[in-house]
Amino acid sequence: MFRRTILLFNLRSNLLHQRNQSTDVGFIGIGNMGARMATNMIQKGLKLKVFDVVPNAAKSVAGATVCSSPKEAAQGCKVVITMLPDGGIVKETLEGKNGIMEGIDKNGLYVDCSTIDSSVAQDLYKTAKSNGFRFLDAPVSGGVTGAQAATLTFMVGGDKADLDFVEPILLKAGARVVHCGEPGAGQIAKVCNNLLLAASMTAVSEAMNLGIKMGLDAKVLTSIINSSTGRCWSSETYNPVPGLMPNVPSSNGYKGGFMMKLTAKDLALAQNTALRCGAPLPITAVVHQIYRVMMTQGYGDKDFSSTYEFFKGAK
Ligand code: NAD
Repeated sequence: MFRRTILLFNLRSNLLHQRNQSTDVGFIGIGNMGARMATNMIQKGLKLKVFDVVPNAAKSVAGATVCSSPKEAAQGCKVVITMLPDGGIVKETLEGKNGIMEGIDKNGLYVDCSTIDSSVAQDLYKTAKSNGFRFLDAPVSGGVTGAQAATLTFMVGGDKADLDFVEPILLKAGARVVHCGEPGAGQIAKVCNNLLLAASMTAVSEAMNLGIKMGLDAKVLTSIINSSTGRCWSSETYNPVPGLMPNVPSSNGYKGGFMMKLTAKDLALAQNTALRCGAPLPITAVVHQIYRVMMTQGYGDKDFSSTYEFFKGAK
């Protein structure tokens, strides 16, 4: 009789515990980046609820609970993270019907890791403040290779105390978390990095195409660049010439990775940001126009390293 009472008591407290146990993260936007980030978080012991408009994308995260709306994904979570294509979609996911705002806990923390305009991030911070929850902008650098290896850098804007709270969670998907300053500061750091990335990838594509067209062996040219002053991430880690490196989009038909249309979006964000302070962006302007032409030629969904293919004239 006594043993039975103990068993019933244990069963009841287990059920209560399960019911009250909150999920660590509600993760919305399970694309090239989000799928890898969410998977790393789960593999490192976090409990996740996920949502994507494409149900099969959400199902790709083994071990996560798949939800039917951002509201459901946000309910009962310590932190809600979004990794979405652009600012309009982020706003809709937060404020729309069955959006995050309808589900997030009072004083809950919402972290947007998408790359969006810093002014939109500042608006989201104000929306959060006036609706009783907290917000950080935390865009990332490191690309899909960094997302896969959990070596991303998070550039964070907003209140430092909120960053301290979420840092252990972000570090399951990345290697570095940097507080950049006020709300929107993470997004400003992000566009500065990405205009440089786009320029360097375009320049590496230009140099490789010239050398190869003039008869140089692609491997020899790459090894020279990577031990010389032209060396950069685009030449060394994410080379745009097919077949030089395994596991990069150029060796996989420029599939996966960082889509040209998203890189072009980042350059538009950089131009908008520069308009607010009068900083000149002449190189960004040229690279942005190259990307816009490429998008009219069907490159929008390919990885941004396909500038090499475009310069080569393969299509
Ligand atoms: P992606 O297009 O592969 O993924 C976006 C995901 O969001 C898709 O699965 C899509 O179905 C989903 N989605 C779209 N609308 C939605 C909605 N209303 N509700 C829920 N889900 C929705 O893009 P990505 O490459 O993963 O990039 C995501 C963000 O990260 C972008 O802002 C991008 O600029 C930024 N980023 C990308 C890279 C990269 O290398 N791919 C690197 C750094 C930052």
